Amino acid sequence: MALFGKLQGTESKESTAHAGDSVEKVKLLIIGSGPAGYTAAIYAARANLSPVMYEGLQPGGQLTTTTEVENFPGYPQGVTGPVLMEDLKAQALRFGTDVRYGLATAANLSKRPFRITIDNSKIVETEALIIATGATAKYLGLPDEQKYSGSGVSACATCDGFFYRGKDVAVVGGGDTAAEEALYLSGLANKVYLIVRRNVLRASKVMQERVIQNPKITVLWEHQTLGLFGDGVVEGVKLVSKKGTLEEKEVEIKVDGFFLAIGHKPNSDVFVPALEVDEVGYIKTKPDSSKTNIEGVFACGDVQDPVYRQAITAAGSGCMAAIDAERWLMEHGSH
Ligand code: FAD
Ligand code: NAP
Repeated sequence: MALFGKLQGTESKESTAHAGDSVEKVKLLIIGSGPAGYTAAIYAARANLSPVMYEGLQPGGQLTTTTEVENFPGYPQGVTGPVLMEDLKAQALRFGTDVRYGLATAANLSKRPFRITIDNSKIVETEALIIATGATAKYLGLPDEQKYSGSGVSACATCDGFFYRGKDVAVVGGGDTAAEEALYLSGLANKVYLIVRRNVLRASKVMQERVIQNPKITVLWEHQTLGLFGDGVVEGVKLVSKKGTLEEKEVEIKVDGFFLAIGHKPNSDVFVPALEVDEVGYIKTKPDSSKTNIEGVFACGDVQDPVYRQAITAAGSGCMAAIDAERWLMEHGSH
């Protein structure tokens, strides 16, 4: 028997929890263990909110999939993603955050306390909720993306572009992100190929013009990626042009870096439709705050950020969410 039914658009993902499953009451629940979640936890724990955090399927978040992080302040020699996340976790634990394995599988935000189902079984009732579930870069789905992961394949030019100074790189995509990534990389790399599957860019006019006018960027119109090649690291891309036409042709380009820029998917499904999201699924927050359309529910990090998507901005917004939650709990007599 489903415990929660759909409730006037405030019930998200159908719960498979059953009556009689254990219910735990907490003051502040944090969902997600990336830079946003851990920073929220550090602030909330130091404010005596006894936060409980569920880490999800990727403890430590996206940075655990990368090697060097050179742009997170405080690490002058750089730091690996996993070490940075271990440091953040240790800091959150030091102040008493209760960090747990588990995935939020359903959320009832129709009334307070909010009821979050963990792993389709346990129910946690919380006075305030911080959502820090991040976003996931989309990949083409080619086996070579896995094969060369961390060895020439990246989904973040701002993060990894520095490693390709003076080299040749390719960016896949035709939207604003691809245009932005190609432009950013043109400031570092020797040459940038922009691989576009159609004969037009989806990017805004101003971004299109910047791309076309940039002498370092070569747009490969009507090209699709077949695979990557290289001895241990990416050395080039196999492409097919004008697929399905009489002019169809396979070509190869030599590059050291292959950047995906075909969009991101925010991990907000569990909280929709209760929470307002934009057309892509990013949770909408009120200007200059982490407040969502539901009082007592706060969102931080990449799940609410279609623009910056950096570890430090995620951490900054995690701090905002904890402060917003603390003030909200205070105003509502729960703290
Ligand atoms: P994430 O790091 O995405 O973490 C989300 C967390 O939510 C995860 O722990 C996940 O398990 C959890 N979660 C998701 N759904 C659920 C659920 N239903 N229940 C429970 N938990 C859930 N940024 C930089 O600033 N510098 C870099 O050098 C850099 N390099 C990068 C390299 C790579 C390969 C990638 C992919 C990203 C890189 N980034 C970098 C971007 C940076 O990783 C993100 O901006 C940042 O991690 C976002 O933090 P977050 O806390 O919002 O979410
Ligand atoms: P997007 O607008 O959805 O564009 C994705 C691009 O990737 C499209 O060109 C699409 O091709 C291409 N693509 C998707 N799947 C592909 C595949 N399998 N193979 C090859 N190409 C593929 O995503 P986005 O660029 O990340 O932008 C998301 C939103 O953020 C947009 O609203 C955008 O305007 C906004 N944004 C704005 C800025 C800015 O203003 N500076 C910067 C970044 C993002 P098709 O065109 O053929 O579909």
